[in-house]
Amino acid sequence: MLERRLPSCDVVHYRETIKPLTQVDADAWAYRTSGISFDWIRVRAGGGRSLVWGGWLLWPEAQNFKDAAAADQPWPFPIEAIATHIRRARNLLNIRQAPMPPHFAAVGAKLGLEVEEKLAAVGPCGCRAFVSLDWRRRSTLRPNRVVLELLANRRGRVTGVSYVDAETGARGIATGRAVVLAASPIETARLLLASPGAAPANAHGLVGTGLTDHLVASYLVLVPQPAPATEPATPMDRAAFVPRFVNLGRKNRRDYPGGFTLELHGPEPLLELGADGIRALGLDPTAAADASYFLVHAIGETLPHPDRKVTLDPDRLDRYGRRIPVIHQAQSDAEPRRARDMEETALAVADALATPGSRIFPLRETLTPGGIAHEAGGAVLGRSPQRAVTDLCGRVQNLRGLYVADASLMPTGLDRPPTLTVLGLAMNTADSLLEHLATGAL
Ligand SMILES: Cc1cc2nc3c(=O)[nH]c(=O)nc-3n(C[C@H](O)[C@H](O)[C@H](O)COP(=O)(O)OP(=O)(O)OC[C@H]3O[C@@H](n4cnc5c(N)ncnc54)[C@H](O)[C@@H]3O)c2cc1C
Repeated sequence: MLERRLPSCDVVHYRETIKPLTQVDADAWAYRTSGISFDWIRVRAGGGRSLVWGGWLLWPEAQNFKDAAAADQPWPFPIEAIATHIRRARNLLNIRQAPMPPHFAAVGAKLGLEVEEKLAAVGPCGCRAFVSLDWRRRSTLRPNRVVLELLANRRGRVTGVSYVDAETGARGIATGRAVVLAASPIETARLLLASPGAAPANAHGLVGTGLTDHLVASYLVLVPQPAPATEPATPMDRAAFVPRFVNLGRKNRRDYPGGFTLELHGPEPLLELGADGIRALGLDPTAAADASYFLVHAIGETLPHPDRKVTLDPDRLDRYGRRIPVIHQAQSDAEPRRARDMEETALAVADALATPGSRIFPLRETLTPGGIAHEAGGAVLGRSPQRAVTDLCGRVQNLRGLYVADASLMPTGLDRPPTLTVLGLAMNTADSLLEHLATGAL
């Protein structure tokens, strides 16, 4: 099976290669949680989490923005306002629409669920997920430089950053006409909170607030038969998507706000989980040669909560002498109801995919946040400085020369994988910065 895929798509090799990227140095990147524990998945390497991501590209929908307004967490513009930016981001990616696997179409028909083809950014070999570094053009990457603090002058203009070289320990300063923060929500909030020069950005105590992440209900269906040899050649193809079907106008009303979507994967040979992955299911890797598996993930929206936020630990410092971030987690009363609905739906899909002799394994606690790496918020964009850290251009309020271009900008995390929306917002920031540079409005 694997030989058939080599050299273009060696999944085991790909998984082994990316594994070290998510195992960050715990002393250098320490954090702690408060309330509910939170597994903060980070990639500390140029390119960020797009080095390891699954490549799912989902267009945000008007309903997502309406949910946010109903929950008093409004997006400052309708989706149409960033549609052009999202389209441009999408056009830059190497996008492929996977064919619809017939088994997922059949499950959709059986359960009355709409199932759509996966739209994915794929790497040149057709299976490696898109890597944002592929996108780099006339820029210079300075590897190993860990930004410690934002620097600002007395007139409230950000002038650069201080950094430490993670390999040599040498410290330095980089200056420029503007600084763009794209360090991911928790780290961007930390940098804003940790930099005395950036204090005006937090005049209203908003930095670090509005943090969201997805709830995820995940099931693995172990199938005693091998993955059919007639399946399409790459795992990017053996996938499909179920768009949101709850709380759409008057249709399928639920007793919680927002909604969820489903990602369906498989069948894959069980051996592709690797020996440790197979043992984690309580199975013997040597007896797995003929088995295959499906994955069903329900991805659910959480709306901002006043107690879900990032602050800095007053006492604990990391190896670079930085105060470590504290990730406060809290849940609304609606979240257990949403989680239950997601579990029931995902389990119904898993059941429908099972063949005689199959077993279904729950893979995680749905209500335990983290571990999915879809966090958003913390430096939210908006119209009013009283309610938002940045303006509509991603420019940090009350400071000059400082911009944000990552998932921190999102007022809500949506009910679907977020990256296409993040890229659209980053495009918006980039365009605004270019215009401000050209017109001297910095
Ligand atoms: C395994 C996995 C699969 C995923 N699959 C999908 C998917 O299929 N579809 C989807 O839409 N989303 C997916 N995601 C989520 C997606 O990758 C994130 O939502 C997205 O990358 C967030 O972008 P960001 O710019 O906010 O943060 P990041 O991508 O985390 O980028 C932050 C960057 O900042 C750097 N950095 C941080 N702090 C510092 C510092 N102090 N100094 C210098 N550099 C710093 C980091 O090294 C990193 O390069 C996935 C994530 C993971 C982990």
